[in-house]
Amino acid sequence: MSERLQWIQDELDRLKESGLYNRIRTISTPQGAWLVVDGKRVLNFCSNNYLGFANHPRLVEKARQALEKYGVGPGAVRTIAGTLDLHTELERRIAAFKGVDAAITFQSGFTANLATIAALVGKEDVVFSDELNHASIIDGCRLSGARIVRYAHADPVDLEARIRENEGTYRRAIAITDGVFSMDGDIAPLDKIYEVTSAYNVMLMVDDAHGEGVLGKGGRGIVDHFNLHGKVDIEIGTFSKAFGVVGGVSAGSPLVVEWLRQRGRPFLFSSATPAADVAACIAAIDVLEESTELVDRLWENARYFKAEMKKLGFDTGVSVTPITPIMLGEAPLAQQFSRELFEEGVFAMAIGYPTVPHGKARIRVMISAAHSKDDLDKGLEAFARVGKRLGVIG
Ligand code: PMP
Repeated sequence: MSERLQWIQDELDRLKESGLYNRIRTISTPQGAWLVVDGKRVLNFCSNNYLGFANHPRLVEKARQALEKYGVGPGAVRTIAGTLDLHTELERRIAAFKGVDAAITFQSGFTANLATIAALVGKEDVVFSDELNHASIIDGCRLSGARIVRYAHADPVDLEARIRENEGTYRRAIAITDGVFSMDGDIAPLDKIYEVTSAYNVMLMVDDAHGEGVLGKGGRGIVDHFNLHGKVDIEIGTFSKAFGVVGGVSAGSPLVVEWLRQRGRPFLFSSATPAADVAACIAAIDVLEESTELVDRLWENARYFKAEMKKLGFDTGVSVTPITPIMLGEAPLAQQFSRELFEEGVFAMAIGYPTVPHGKARIRVMISAAHSKDDLDKGLEAFARVGKRLGVIG
């Protein structure tokens, strides 16, 4: 190994020693309630496939038809020769679904955040950012060059104090929050946040990655949940979670969307999403608009699983959504718990620093409408056995 790369080996060794090393498992089946992971059939408690869309026959069929019609590659970025009629149809459909006036799609939720934040603020500006915001928001803020002012998690009073403290020191300001926080499953008090930002003429952006398909009427998302239509300037979404596919979106004010078409760098400089993925996203909206059945089942499953975990004596933190953290404290314990669950036939990953703070390691269980009650019961039994063995529950 070259001497100048030795530092990487040292860092990797340190990660391994501290139990923070990511071991990546390999899946050889479609996403669903059960998976084959590293050759073993296991119950899937890991994926963001909230509604079972990742392998839904209607999405697969629409993707297959688009693949046959358009082929596999987009050929160019959206502004050169990459915009298909399917892209504009998806933008229209997702805007209508969310009850907003305009939308622009991106290759992922991550790039939607980078594009949007960097287009809205720059060096002379300020971002007020919830201290637990997702990494893609943090990176978008850094990329923008704006001053980043963190406010206490989900705390509109602290947000107001930070805005007042900084008044007069910036050209423009934006407040940004996750809608549902992906590691804890709590919901930002967006109605209270809006009261503050509107009073101080601060732009408001919410990342609804874990809210769409989950919160609001039939899964219309966090803005619908709080009935804030027309008030939030821009919502970020992803098609990789409840929608079961891949891709990102910024939705809301037509002015912001038009600005992103001119200045959103991943839109301008990275190739468009392939047709099959876009067609599958449109099919997901079709299914969601026809019936609330899957969203209802997701919530039923989540309520049942959480209530039973609490009865067993587990700490599921502050979650009020299908994201169910099982709080364990130190990373090595969480990793051992995850390994033993896997031996028991349950795939549930340990999450530690830097994804969550030191000392707050956990297993994060992602409940899906694809789980049957029998699946959930099997999972609960495995948690009970491992929890007792490792002394987490009595
Ligand atoms: N925002 C949040 C809150 C997320 O949890 C994620 C996914 N980890 C993203 C954005 C990025 O979405 P994508 O996977 O589509 O890039």
